[in-house]
Amino acid sequence: MNTIISIGENDRGKTIREIIESNLSELAKRIIAARVDGQLIDLGASVNEARQIEAVLADDDDRDALEILRHSTSHLLAQAVRQLYGDEVKYTIGPALMDDFKYGFYYDFDLPRPISTEELPKIEKRMTKLAQQKQTFERIELPIEQAKEEFEKIGQTYKIELIDEIAKEENVQTVSLYRHGDFLDLCRGPHLPHTGFIKAFKLLSVAGAYWRGDANNKMLTRIYGVAFYDKDNLKKHLEKIEQAQKRDHRLLGKQLDIYSTSELIGPGLILWHPNGAIIRHTIERFWIDEHTKRGYQLVYTPHIANEKIYQISGHLEAYSEMMYSPMDIDGQNFRVKPMNCPGHIHIFNSQTRSYRDLPIRYCEFGTVYRYEPTGTLHGMLRVRGFTQDDAHIFCTVEQLADEIEDTVDLIDYMLKTFGYEYKIALATRPEKSIGTDEEWQWSTEALRTVLERRNLEYEVEEGGGVFYGPKIQMMLVDSLGREWQGPTVQVDLNLPRRFNCTYIGQDNAEHTVVMVHRAVLGSLERFVGGLVEHYAGAFPTWLAPVQAVVLPVSEKFNDYARKIQEKLKDNGFRVEIDCSDDKVGAKIRRATMAKVPYMLIVGQQEQESETASVRSRKQGQLGQIKTDEFIKKISQEIDSKSL
Ligand SMILES: [Zn+2]
Ligand SMILES: [Zn+2]
Repeated sequence: MNTIISIGENDRGKTIREIIESNLSELAKRIIAARVDGQLIDLGASVNEARQIEAVLADDDDRDALEILRHSTSHLLAQAVRQLYGDEVKYTIGPALMDDFKYGFYYDFDLPRPISTEELPKIEKRMTKLAQQKQTFERIELPIEQAKEEFEKIGQTYKIELIDEIAKEENVQTVSLYRHGDFLDLCRGPHLPHTGFIKAFKLLSVAGAYWRGDANNKMLTRIYGVAFYDKDNLKKHLEKIEQAQKRDHRLLGKQLDIYSTSELIGPGLILWHPNGAIIRHTIERFWIDEHTKRGYQLVYTPHIANEKIYQISGHLEAYSEMMYSPMDIDGQNFRVKPMNCPGHIHIFNSQTRSYRDLPIRYCEFGTVYRYEPTGTLHGMLRVRGFTQDDAHIFCTVEQLADEIEDTVDLIDYMLKTFGYEYKIALATRPEKSIGTDEEWQWSTEALRTVLERRNLEYEVEEGGGVFYGPKIQMMLVDSLGREWQGPTVQVDLNLPRRFNCTYIGQDNAEHTVVMVHRAVLGSLERFVGGLVEHYAGAFPTWLAPVQAVVLPVSEKFNDYARKIQEKLKDNGFRVEIDCSDDKVGAKIRRATMAKVPYMLIVGQQEQESETASVRSRKQGQLGQIKTDEFIKKISQEIDSKSL
């Protein structure tokens, strides 16, 4: 559908609405804004310089259109809240959220009294009523002082603060206000032509949020919601949220007995229960095997270290607020480690290294401890003690690109094994950084070369690197399409210099090594927590804590069932048996709840034919199968790490 209109001389001075209505009359009802030279503007604006404009249609697939809808809905929300809760309501900001899994917009309020989730339907109802009135969004440009007066009249002090800030930072003489119905807001726009487009929306939750995100400021009330043009899309979205809630690893973690935390031990410190521990151990074994195959050497380093090491590394200076207080040992200050790098560096430095020794790749499941404020802790995903799947590569400048490529290959293999898709970003030199232009040039080039060579799609995050080097950052995309922080590959120009990590080159001179920090899984806590949600607790057989359970239909067959269990156990499988007095139906329900991949049901017939009736979590009934045959099937599935 062509929605681009060329502007002729006669059109100058007309509003965009007028031009669109005369050119695209059949679409007029669906047009909500326009793109002029790539910039989004309201239909009410007039055309002066532009040669062509593109109509933006009310369509959930058009990101701009959706953003305009969501943002406009936040205005509607503020209008409704002000009408319902009185003139003392102060409203602050209400942006659209386009990359959040759950929310599509929010608005922050300073309210005369607290508000609860139970009140959201009442607000929604008022919003619907206001939307149906098709109130026009009217843009008003006012000089700074006059705009401030307007907000003073209605007691909107936060808006006055924002206007002062805009005037100062952007050095402008005027600001734009928008009015719809009885509601006035400070905003850049654009917005919908009128509120009648707002039909499919939902308010989702109420939370506290500090004004400007600063804990020294007043705590405001944030109301979150989401909006679409299409009611079906809203329905699908709400179903997805419900799915995600059912998958919450804190809920499933308890139900499947994977982990817990204890108030007495301390928040953010994970206790791995046997079921969680076996998953973790299986992942660790896979990881170590794969790293060993690819030329990494496994190391272990201590959990505490003299804090001098963190003075040299610079962590004490740059990251002291996330490090725990020192403990005194023989009059020296020791710290629990926040990072594994210094330990690996000291192993590297324990000998004189020659260019022939390089590259050296050390890997470790290194447990570190970092302070996180209580409010930010979240199940296994945000914790205070965690184990990184850490590795450090020491190489020459010439070897860097190949090392990065091997790392990217390893990451790709491991993530696909777990069934994750991923997105890639290349983060380049930030404003504040150390190192020379030349160093940033070759290190960034090495990362870019690999991404290009492997034909990988990536985004460039200009200035998104750490102060000591560029990095590749990946985001995992899980089975619900949510994004999780994933692997990082970080070049470091800083630590090798601080710790004097050198090698003797072919020229017999001493050179500083290039160091790469990299993690594939991130932390085992976060990774396993994420996996629980990714698989909705139904782990593939190779990872499942219990791979099969034998269910005798009555007590008479307990002995035969035990024989099968023993045989499977002898072959290395994790197999349990349910010899309770319950009926077999109850046993099946229990095994289903525990999401066990295979149930082996045995009774008279099975005993006589020396088989078991196999029920697969995925494929349903598989019929009577001899034990040896089952062993063959399950071995294949486990060895191939089938999903
Ligand atoms: Zn706005
Ligand atoms: Zn490191």
